[in-house]
Amino acid sequence: MDLAAIRGVKIAFDVSLAGISRWAIGGPARAVVSAVTAEGVEQTLRTMRDRRDPFLVVGETSNLLFDSEGFDGVILRVGRGFDHCEIQETTVRAEAGISIPQLARLTADAGLSGLEHTVGIPGTLGGLVTMNGGSQRRGIGSHVGRVVYIDSDGRRGELSQEECRFAYRRSVLQEMNVVVVEVDLNLDRADAAVVHRSMDAVVESRRSRFPEHLPNCGSTFLSDPEMYATVGPPGRAIEDVGLKGFRRGGAQISEQHANFIVNTGGATSDDVLWLIAKIRRDVMQATGFAMDCEVRYVNKQGEVSAAHEAAQQRWPGGTSGGDSLPAHA
Ligand SMILES: Cc1cc2nc3c(=O)[nH]c(=O)nc-3n(C[C@H](O)[C@H](O)[C@H](O)COP(=O)(O)OP(=O)(O)OC[C@H]3O[C@@H](n4cnc5c(N)ncnc54)[C@H](O)[C@@H]3O)c2cc1C
Repeated sequence: MDLAAIRGVKIAFDVSLAGISRWAIGGPARAVVSAVTAEGVEQTLRTMRDRRDPFLVVGETSNLLFDSEGFDGVILRVGRGFDHCEIQETTVRAEAGISIPQLARLTADAGLSGLEHTVGIPGTLGGLVTMNGGSQRRGIGSHVGRVVYIDSDGRRGELSQEECRFAYRRSVLQEMNVVVVEVDLNLDRADAAVVHRSMDAVVESRRSRFPEHLPNCGSTFLSDPEMYATVGPPGRAIEDVGLKGFRRGGAQISEQHANFIVNTGGATSDDVLWLIAKIRRDVMQATGFAMDCEVRYVNKQGEVSAAHEAAQQRWPGGTSGGDSLPAHA
């Protein structure tokens, strides 16, 4: 079947990934298929299996670095238009494309507590559950009751909270090659006004600390508890080695928060990966800790890996303290 004949999705061909990427980085993709119904997702996955098209599922791309050479395959986007949400008592059932700030505010309106820490995260529910994202050292996983997914043969399956194997910014979904279509969350009763006030405080605090005006993907590196206890969070470690504001091409280690890499205009995936390699090398040399990335890199074949792994492959000296990075770096 032709992709264009599938019902329940919207399709655009020859799309520039920079145009859909939060980092405004990325070359062309063959097509971007936006989910509208779960049946459309099933049909798309079966069609891509039959055509042997490589595919990658994305939400808001707020944790992804696309390659500047692009992706020779199809992007399946689960976002706006696939965002129905129902609340019964303390259980929320939502489609995976719902935006997190919108979902958090809907639960606050319903007098439910639990998603306060997520209100400033600019992703989708599918992306947040896959990443077990959250803030204030918490993850969405602790509220997940059930995840419904569609596998690469177009078959539906379900995972319980336990089966999701949530850990710090990790879940089994990162290895499953499936599309999350629906999530149940279990929340707690609370006063709506109190929940809204604490969400307002979270938003306000993030606004003052994080760069908002240049494209970025949030925190680049994960916070390691052992490193946190002795050296501090990644942003502090990067600042301490003097890299705040450091640039490579159009990419810059943010002046406002050193764990953010911003695109000041025309940054390439190599610019970002190079900065990641340099940060890792310098922090490793200064502290003995090898920082791992939260951000995920998508190569031209659509394979996804933690961005530091791709950076390490290209510039091996970036982590071992060798001299593969240019001398002036
Ligand atoms: C300014 C800013 C601030 C941020 N702050 C935080 C923060 O405080 N805490 C935090 O945890 N993160 C934060 N992030 C990172 C990011 O927003 C989260 O990881 C978010 O949950 C990713 O959601 P997404 O929809 O953008 O996923 P994407 O970036 O599109 O995808 C992330 C991963 O999930 C997979 N995926 C996405 N949707 C699905 C689906 N439906 N089914 C299966 N797999 C899927 C993708 O293949 C990819 O591997 C921030 C990002 C930005 C830009």
